[in-house]
This record gives sequence, C-alpha cells and structure tokens, in this order.
Amino acid sequence: MDIVVCGKIIPASTVTVEIDPATRRMIRKGVAHELDPAAASAVEEALRLMEKEGGTVTLVTMGFNEITIGIRTALAMGATSAVHIFDDALAGSDALATAKALAAAIGKKPFDLIICGTESSDSYSGIVPGQLARLLGVPPVTFANEMTVEGNTLTIKRQSESGYDVVEAELPALVTVTSGINEPRYPQLKGIMAAKRKEILQMSVEDLGLAADDVGEQGAREKVLEIGRPPKREAGDVVEDDGEGGKRIADFLAEVKVL
Ligand SMILES: Cc1cc2nc3c(=O)[nH]c(=O)nc-3n(C[C@H](O)[C@H](O)[C@H](O)COP(=O)(O)OP(=O)(O)OC[C@H]3O[C@@H](n4cnc5c(N)ncnc54)[C@H](O)[C@@H]3O)c2cc1C
Repeated sequence: MDIVVCGKIIPASTVTVEIDPATRRMIRKGVAHELDPAAASAVEEALRLMEKEGGTVTLVTMGFNEITIGIRTALAMGATSAVHIFDDALAGSDALATAKALAAAIGKKPFDLIICGTESSDSYSGIVPGQLARLLGVPPVTFANEMTVEGNTLTIKRQSESGYDVVEAELPALVTVTSGINEPRYPQLKGIMAAKRKEILQMSVEDLGLAADDVGEQGAREKVLEIGRPPKREAGDVVEDDGEGGKRIADFLAEVKVL
C-alpha cells in the first residue's frame, strides 16, 4: 500500500512567532522549525498501516530550506522517503496554491491513500486537504479519530459533536486525521541514523510543471488585508458573597441566556 502523508513543518513551539508588517506574513526564515504535531499524527497513522499492509510512506511537504530538520523527524519515525517542494517562487502562496503544488507532486506517482492533518498548527485554516482531494479527484473523508483499511475500503470514525459517524470510501482516497487519533512515536537512535540515508527529493515549481502564476504571490487569490492583536479582555465583575452570591450568579447566567 503506497501512502502519502502531507505534513507541514512549522515554527517550533518554543519560537515566538513574529509577523512581517510589510508582507503581513509569518517570519519563517531563520526560525527553528519542527514537524507539525498534526503531521506527526498523520505519519504515525501511516506507519501503523504500512506495518500491517506493507508498502511505502512518503512525506510530501512544501516550505523553505529551514524545514529539513522536520522532514528528518518524519524519516526517523519510519517514513520511507520524502518530497520537499521548495522554490523562492512559492513565497506568498495561499492555501489553493499550496494545494496545487502538493497535488502536482503527489500526482507524479500512483498512490493508494493520502493522510493529512485536519488543520495545521500554525495557520489553522483547514482548507488544504479538501482542495487537494478535489485537484486529485479522490474522495475526502475528514475528522477521523479512528481509521482502518480492509482490502480496498477505508473506514473511519468521524468525530462529531454528538459522538461519531462511520464513513467508508474506496481507495484511492484522502483522509484527515484529528490530533487525538494516536500518540505519535518518538524517533529512536536507529531510526535517526537510518533517516540520514533516506531520500529527500527536492522539487521546484518547474519540476512540478506548474506555471509561475499558479503559485506564489501572483497565484494567490487570498489577500491578508490586516493583522492585529485580539482586543484586550475587559476586567470581570467580582461578586462578593453577602448571602445573595448564588442568586446573582443565577441572574447573570439567565441574562446571558445560559440558564
Ligand atoms: C496571502 C497569503 C500569503 C501567504 N504566504 C506564505 C508564505 O510566503 N510562506 C508560507 O509558508 N506560508 C504562506 N501563507 C500561508 C500558507 O498559505 C498556508 O500555510 C497554507 O495555505 C496552508 O494553510 P494552513 O496551514 O492553514 O493549512 P491547513 O489547511 O490548516 O492544513 C491542513 C493539512 O494540510 C496539509 N498541509 C497544509 N500545508 C501544507 C504544506 N505546506 N506542506 C504539506 N502539507 C500541508 C497538512 O496535512 C495539514 O495538516 C500565506 C497565506 C496567505 C493567505
């Protein structure tokens, strides 16, 4: 079974993210990066399937050269190889341009299953997987907090507000997994050493067969108009309990229509 994991490499959780006021983009250059925890869950799920069914797990990621360390983490966990989409022309790519680049790289080889995170842990738009499925013409099944593959059928438990739905799709398909689906493994020394010998295929916009205005700033249909901090929270009311505290809380809850 040939599984593709789309995993984003994001600024490390120890980094205070800064926004460039001129471009209104996150400053990613020169910043420590790591494999997105959402991507680590996707890699873990793919590895469990590969261990059961055989085959390959390929990480496909788009980002600057600073992200190699995160790619190595996925390889050290056990992914077979990686594709790194990296080109200055990709700067300023919005979600659709990201999906186009990922789809062009994935479409170069046959695959059985694509596993994505539900949303990335730095931009949180949750849009890329749906766009990717559309571009590749495969069914998207989303919010999986459990998944199995039997023969040619993918079955997931789709997390919902009231419990879960069971959803099936024929392969090839794309699935998005929630962060609670598993506990990603830590890379072991043997895996870290093996990762050094694994292939990371670098692909440019030209290698992908995309036009310059498909991606990057020129291809972006979304524009970031303004970036600001959320309004400061107002100080709350302190209720001193003079015997009427319970009533005042109940009145307040009724006022905001919680009761
Ligand atoms: C106008 C504009 C300009 C931007 N310019 C830049 C820029 O210059 N550089 C930059 O890095 N970002 C840039 N971004 C942000 C970039 O577009 C988003 O990071 C990208 O669209 C993915 O969105 P997301 O992280 O919210 O993905 P989501 O849709 O939340 O991600 C869900 C899942 O999709 C997959 N996925 C998403 N992104 C990737 C990826 N890159 N590689 C592999 N898998 C992925 C993963 O499985 C992930 O868990 C820009 C955004 C806008 C709107």
